[in-house]
Amino acid sequence: MYEQVLLLERRDSEYQDLAGYRLAGGYSALGSTLRDSSPEQLIDLVKEAKLRGRGGAGFPTGLKWSFVPKGNASAKWLLCNADEGEPGTFKDRIIMEQTPHLLLEGMTLAAYAIGAAKAYIYIRGEYVTAIRRLEREIQASLQAGLLGKNILGSGFDLDIYVHRGAGAYICGEETALIESLEGKRGQPRFKPPFPAVSGFYKGPTVVNNVETLACVPPIVQRGADWFRSIGSEKCPGPKLYCLSGHVRRPGLYELPMGISLRELVEQHAGGTHSGKKIKAVIPGGISAALLPEPALDVAMDFDALSAAGTMLGSAGVIVMDESTCMVRVAHRIIEFFHHESCGKCTPCREGLAWVEQMLGRIEAGEAKSGDLESMERLYGNIEGNTFCLLGDAAAMALRGVVKNFRHEFIERIQQGGRAA
Ligand code: NAD
Repeated sequence: MYEQVLLLERRDSEYQDLAGYRLAGGYSALGSTLRDSSPEQLIDLVKEAKLRGRGGAGFPTGLKWSFVPKGNASAKWLLCNADEGEPGTFKDRIIMEQTPHLLLEGMTLAAYAIGAAKAYIYIRGEYVTAIRRLEREIQASLQAGLLGKNILGSGFDLDIYVHRGAGAYICGEETALIESLEGKRGQPRFKPPFPAVSGFYKGPTVVNNVETLACVPPIVQRGADWFRSIGSEKCPGPKLYCLSGHVRRPGLYELPMGISLRELVEQHAGGTHSGKKIKAVIPGGISAALLPEPALDVAMDFDALSAAGTMLGSAGVIVMDESTCMVRVAHRIIEFFHHESCGKCTPCREGLAWVEQMLGRIEAGEAKSGDLESMERLYGNIEGNTFCLLGDAAAMALRGVVKNFRHEFIERIQQGGRAA
């Protein structure tokens, strides 16, 4: 039986405040680390555990921390990316609402590892409950000597601030997040340099996702071997999966990394609520290419999904039953990306506007022969030619729909008019 460590047991509200979290053993990881381990030892432990970033890209967390230059030459920063904007994704919100101290303890450990004295939680502005709870619990931690000056008598100082985003999806991209936090328009920077070397106000900056940071206290408490014993060999550990769409039991599931997508959807989420067959599943938020039903035996981890031509991304699993119109799905996805394009680069700004118009014509039955091929050329020209991954993600998602359900686009063009 899998034991939850990120969602704990979610009984009533006992983990939402400091007293409840401490009763469950909370902050013992921080206490033992500040007492017995150096920052380098903590980084080695996280490397040994093979923790990979849960924001979507799966970059090794310990390695990212180790890129931060040692010494006190310039201020270092820890930024928690809580701007959870990927459609179909709600895992970070639940951590922040249900177990805010798991995140705060994880952040304090991460800040200790990289030598940061200030940290920000850049949080999606709509997450009002999470914002209030984090602000309340930061105050509680300050009063308990778990934040602020000389934490637990160790000589280590850390302040954590909550910063609300203003509703732009692109600010979840780490360099746009940094620009926004500096008070500028949220648009991505060119990488390299990566933030670990030059980030917030050009200082060394680690940007970690909420779920990634929440994995750190259990790793310290239970050890790297325990973490590696869960899930896939190259991508171990617990994982949060967000299930939505046509499923009987939508919601958030904590299960091992690497569980099969079919088991997740059919057993845990109970299959479709309509009783109809599954047509396709998006495995990792709408940036990830969908998988048709026969491909659902894939493991839910970074490497297996990448080999299957898609990605784990934010693990926002969206299930579609056979009643779903795939032309409508494609149109809806591109509407989102076009709306959220920051406009900095031409292929993304202009290309997505054209693709959206073409999809609108196909859906309305007003397209003509050859339009599908024109659209494919157009999104082919967006891919690989944009400043950040937003344009690529849009093209990848659309390519996945067209590749697997091309006949639906052709039928709509040939027949014209809306599907029944
Ligand atoms: P990325 O591969 O460019 O970077 C991943 C992380 O590793 C970054 O922090 C980056 O700074 C670091 N990194 C990579 N190479 C490095 C190097 N050589 N030196 C130092 N640091 C290095 O990916 P990304 O653009 O940060 O993220 C893309 C992912 O975001 C996608 O997979 C997508 O699924 C996900 N995403 C998530 C959400 C959400 O709501 N959770 C929203 C949109 C996109």
